[in-house]
Amino acid sequence: MGARVRTIHSMTGLPPREIQRLFFADPNAIPRGRPPDSPEWYHSANLLFRTDASIFATTYRRLRQAGFGPDDALVGAYRHYRTVCQAPHRISFDRAFDLASHTDGIWIAKSPSFSVVTCPSCTSEFLTALGTVPRSDACPFCKLVQRYGNDPRVQTSFPVRPLPYPAVFQQEMMMRQKKERDADGDCEAPISSFPGDTGDR
Ligand SMILES: [Zn+2]
Repeated sequence: MGARVRTIHSMTGLPPREIQRLFFADPNAIPRGRPPDSPEWYHSANLLFRTDASIFATTYRRLRQAGFGPDDALVGAYRHYRTVCQAPHRISFDRAFDLASHTDGIWIAKSPSFSVVTCPSCTSEFLTALGTVPRSDACPFCKLVQRYGNDPRVQTSFPVRPLPYPAVFQQEMMMRQKKERDADGDCEAPISSFPGDTGDR
């Protein structure tokens, strides 16, 4: 997913030389340049970058809270981010790694500097500096909705998706319910066959 050697090293513990041998047979393919440094970047980044960072970070946080380890949560959240946001993606894997590091205080960060909070106005979760009181004027999603009508960049980044035709959905539900009823009928045991049940007497 375009991770640099340092990122792979932090996540896997593999020596840099080994990473080069395994992933970058062509030395020119090694991602170069300054690695991301999110604590400063996030607060001055434009709205669309902050929105994308929040979409990644909130998914990462949910996966961590569900009990996934940081490696799995990072990869899973990044893949999910790429399926819900339009390409070209503003958040690189290295950026996602850096955001996750600074949210949990792991890998390259000694302590957390971000947290995920819930907007009191729209109830979306978004990324913010650790210890910040959640306010709607800091919520990127509230701003996104406000700007949507007259900002073509926002419209292109988050195009309106057609909702499924309700009749198709209803038909699917009815077929599923029928299937479930049929399956229940096949394996339903008579109540009296359970020892100790009231039906036994
Ligand atoms: Zn909001």
